[in-house]
Amino acid sequence: MRLLLKKCLATLIAALAPVAIGRGPVFAKDGQCAARVETEGASLRDYRAIFQSCANEAGETRLATRRMTMDGVALLLTVDPSSLSTRIERSQCWRCADADDASESGTRFIAALRLPAKEGTPKVLENAGLTHGQGAGSYLTGDLCPSRQPLDRAFLVALSEKDPGAPIALSVSGLWIIHHAADWEWLKKQAESGRLTISWVNHSFRHPYVKGVSDAKTYLLTPGVDMDEEIFETEKLMVSKGVTPSVFFRFPGLVSDAALMEKLRSLHLIALGSDSWLALGPLPRPGSIILVHPNGNEEIGLKIFSRLDAQGKIPKPFRPINEAP
Ligand SMILES: [Zn+2]
Repeated sequence: MRLLLKKCLATLIAALAPVAIGRGPVFAKDGQCAARVETEGASLRDYRAIFQSCANEAGETRLATRRMTMDGVALLLTVDPSSLSTRIERSQCWRCADADDASESGTRFIAALRLPAKEGTPKVLENAGLTHGQGAGSYLTGDLCPSRQPLDRAFLVALSEKDPGAPIALSVSGLWIIHHAADWEWLKKQAESGRLTISWVNHSFRHPYVKGVSDAKTYLLTPGVDMDEEIFETEKLMVSKGVTPSVFFRFPGLVSDAALMEKLRSLHLIALGSDSWLALGPLPRPGSIILVHPNGNEEIGLKIFSRLDAQGKIPKPFRPINEAP
């Protein structure tokens, strides 16, 4: 009788176990949920877009925008809907339910995704999305488009010496990361040591561009471009190289169209424009999103930056890009 009871109990526990795992965090008690997920060198599978509202045992809430598995462990890319900060989390530590933009419409994140379209939207959009940030100071952004030149480390060293820990949003293309392994590691060291505070922005994987071709047929408007691949392959590369993608995406050449903008919104990415691409002339003012290219391809922009900075004409402090929308 006793044995039978034990057997029945074992069967009951086995039947309930999957429900218990599905319903609640299982790692919280042994501290795994608090530990940072180390994704350096990971091989990621089943990477896809989702949109879920999640809560953990500690009462924190976040929105999940991607899911993936790493060596069989299910992971989430999550966003804090107020601060816009992103984090890779173990999905077992969170209880998630499908969400949509309407259910989350009161959040700062959804408001930032819903920037109003300009009147009489032309077919090719230049500099669509977030072009100017909130408040005083300025938002420094640097694009790392594919380049045969090395990273302009001197520019970044000068920045960190003058403004230790300066926030900078670096827009990285997949091909730049692949072909600049040593520079990439150096950048990560600048971030880990606190010399710079880097936000990692997706700048597409291949960053297609053909000189002399009209904007309507180059950049991500090149016929045949697979936008999912351009976005996801870059994100996967970033994650497997140990950094967390931010909520921002910068269009190559700042060129897009209404369909690409909608695509970004549907994947919960904010298009990052600029009102002060220094090499092209516009001077920064308070709240400006400044654009330079530390990839060796646009030295003139870096020179202008240094000159303006020496003259005190760059609005300070530099602010994290998450504060811009
Ligand atoms: Zn670029």
